Amino acid sequence: MRIENLSAWRVELPLVEGSYRWSGGKSVDVFDSTVVRLDTDDGRSGWGEVCPLGPAYLPSYAAGARAGIAELAPAVLGQDPREPERLWRRMDAALKGHPYAKSAVDMAAWDLAGQAAGLPLCSLLGGRYGEDVRLYRAISQEPPEVMAERVAGYRAEGYRRFQLKVGGAVEDDVARIRACADALEPGDVLVADANTGWLPHEALRVVRAVADVDVYVEQPCATYANCLRVRRATSHPFVLDETIDGLEPFLRAHADGAMDVVNLKISKLGGLTPTRRLRDLCVELGIAMTLEDSWGGDVVTAAIAHLAHSTPEELRFTATDFNSYVTRSYADGAPRREDGRMRASTRPGLGAVPRASELGAPAFELRR
Ligand code: MG
Repeated sequence: MRIENLSAWRVELPLVEGSYRWSGGKSVDVFDSTVVRLDTDDGRSGWGEVCPLGPAYLPSYAAGARAGIAELAPAVLGQDPREPERLWRRMDAALKGHPYAKSAVDMAAWDLAGQAAGLPLCSLLGGRYGEDVRLYRAISQEPPEVMAERVAGYRAEGYRRFQLKVGGAVEDDVARIRACADALEPGDVLVADANTGWLPHEALRVVRAVADVDVYVEQPCATYANCLRVRRATSHPFVLDETIDGLEPFLRAHADGAMDVVNLKISKLGGLTPTRRLRDLCVELGIAMTLEDSWGGDVVTAAIAHLAHSTPEELRFTATDFNSYVTRSYADGAPRREDGRMRASTRPGLGAVPRASELGAPAFELRR
């Protein structure tokens, strides 16, 4: 089996809530996603997607994803997609860095590998654990009372885990955490994600002010060293995200005891291939995981469902159903949330197939 064509589409994903806001006044109104299709010489098509959280979150941006994917095409065309590890190494040799550009192509190769094996992707990634996957809901940064109302609203939809976007002024963030904690019921889980927005002195004031609240603290500061300072000064369970962008930073953080939970985003790490590697290491080391991506629509959500469903349940802290945050569904067969949970498709591969009518004309098509 050889890859004959690589096509990419730009897909706009407007938000159900109108916008998504997090630390430092950053926000997105309409996500700019890139959907990739790989066609093979035996008539199969595999799908991938990459959607940066705007240009100011990680070192990635939407037009860069498309430029990177086009740059990768010569290393991808003619290759066997049933060998995703080998394909990923070829891509990495052809383009240094730019993990997010590799992610969509790698995802499409895994889709094809699953189709060729006649197995759902979660089976290839390790097996299906449990009936379904527990989800969390990110709560966009708003005044405390609005965020508490959103928690109650999403709780009524079935979510039991909530990740608050903080990383603003200390007094506001303390009020946000307290207001949302008051909206919880026994068994619910609260995470305060500062998305690198606090300086150490601010983070220390927040964690001290909410010392009596059962809340996880996620990525308080921009640098690893500053996160570690905060970690060592608090007894709150601690999540690292933005600074864990590969195996080396993960191993260092684990050796330092710097996190209890790690957030693995598929495109931050460069695709399902490197994410699976880190996921398996976390399973062995007993580090629980949030399994997700920077953002995305139906195809990214399908990939998250397979990645999460193939992770042992006790190590699966949460996962994200991004396709329910946006107004637009562009694929058939994508996971749909039910009572705060989703499940991976049982069809071969990803099981999510974009509709031609939704995609329109491709941004580019490259042939072998
Ligand atoms: Mg995070």
